[in-house]
Amino acid sequence: MKFDIVIIGGGIVGLSTAMNIKKQSPGLTVALLEKEPVLAAHQTGNNSGVIHAGVYYKPGSLKATNCRTGYNRLLEFCNHEGVKYDLCGKLIVATHKEELPRLENLYERAVQNGLDRVKKLPQEAIQEYEPYATGLAALWVPYTGIIDYSEVSRKYADIFKDRHGGEIFTNTRVTDIRINADGTEVITGKGSFSARLIINTAGLFSDKIAALTHPDLNVRIIPFRGEYVMLKKEKSYLVRNLIYPVPDPNFPFLGVHFTRRIQGGIEAGPNAVWAFKREGYKKTDFEFGEFFGALGWKGFRKVMLQYWQMGLGEYYRSFNKFALARALQKLVPEVTTDDLTAGGAGVRAQACDRDGGLVDDFLFAEDDFIIHVLNAPSPAATASLSIGQTIAEKAVARFA
Ligand SMILES: Cc1cc2nc3c(=O)[nH]c(=O)nc-3n(C[C@H](O)[C@H](O)[C@H](O)COP(=O)(O)OP(=O)(O)OC[C@H]3O[C@@H](n4cnc5c(N)ncnc54)[C@H](O)[C@@H]3O)c2cc1C
Repeated sequence: MKFDIVIIGGGIVGLSTAMNIKKQSPGLTVALLEKEPVLAAHQTGNNSGVIHAGVYYKPGSLKATNCRTGYNRLLEFCNHEGVKYDLCGKLIVATHKEELPRLENLYERAVQNGLDRVKKLPQEAIQEYEPYATGLAALWVPYTGIIDYSEVSRKYADIFKDRHGGEIFTNTRVTDIRINADGTEVITGKGSFSARLIINTAGLFSDKIAALTHPDLNVRIIPFRGEYVMLKKEKSYLVRNLIYPVPDPNFPFLGVHFTRRIQGGIEAGPNAVWAFKREGYKKTDFEFGEFFGALGWKGFRKVMLQYWQMGLGEYYRSFNKFALARALQKLVPEVTTDDLTAGGAGVRAQACDRDGGLVDDFLFAEDDFIIHVLNAPSPAATASLSIGQTIAEKAVARFA
């Protein structure tokens, strides 16, 4: 099978890229290969469903710029295509004195990122927004929303396929890539696909795909499982919308929080633990090769040395419902262990370099034949239309 472009990975980033390429250049032939029987089965289909406003990201970074642009495009897209979302707003609450300067920094960052409707709230105003939350001060972020990213992804897929004639191959796992004089051969369990350009959007496996042609790659994916619980239905009155803590700047995640889901219910969590398998959604999931492969990578060992204390705390909370409830009580004191029932889990692809640095920003790399997306953690779902458009521009330019 011959195509101009082959995209590896049917998550929200690959699908947005596919749709954007066909919109920009309908004449190009494009195939998207996905190893699972359905699209959006991994990070995209197991995320928190938050439309991030862009408060947290370093001004000028790819995360900040793509989040702001992607946010606006996503809302436009959903309005046009009839995808449901709710801009319910979110509260970021400082519960300890030492978090107050960090909350102030977040406010300044939000303003620098163009979010001029973010409001500082004194202690006594918190309960106007969230009647059961307590803290010393808070930020109200009216821009934040909730959505179902699986539904968004299905829309991207439909537009790519049905309106623009793109081709999607599910149950098609890429096992190798060969570069030859005319282009590339993408080898899969269902035969080979030749392409003039490959785009790697394989999420948790993006480093493995990249390593097929670049064995000396300087980054590896570390899978972090985020484990969630749900508030029991009769206790969901404790949270109106989204309540988040002030994030720890030394850790790449946002901390234990509450999120109202657009499908209904209040989700709480996550614990963020190293998953012993890239698609390990259960505590018992373990894959020998991946486990020892990670331990053999110098960058990973350095991350473990740096974060072991925090990591142990996360494992403790993972196995101890009381510890998780205590973390949640900092934001909403009335929550008890009895109010929590089992929830889902998602595994985040976090890139780490050889020196043990967790890559903070989105990371792309390209050569003559392949464009790689090597780090697309949160807010990449919010930013998917911006990321997809940028990659599409790069891809289309090669065929001009
Ligand atoms: C728990 C959690 C909560 C999050 N919350 C939010 C949020 O609220 N808001 C937000 O904006 N972002 C959030 N994110 C981040 C967001 O979900 C991801 O950034 C985004 O989904 C990344 O999309 P992707 O297409 O790169 O990866 P994925 O969705 O993982 O897609 C990659 C695809 O590649 C396929 N693939 C892999 N290897 C191969 C192969 N060899 N051959 C063929 N196919 C292959 C996989 O099966 C998969 O379908 C969250 C992520 C997690 C995990």
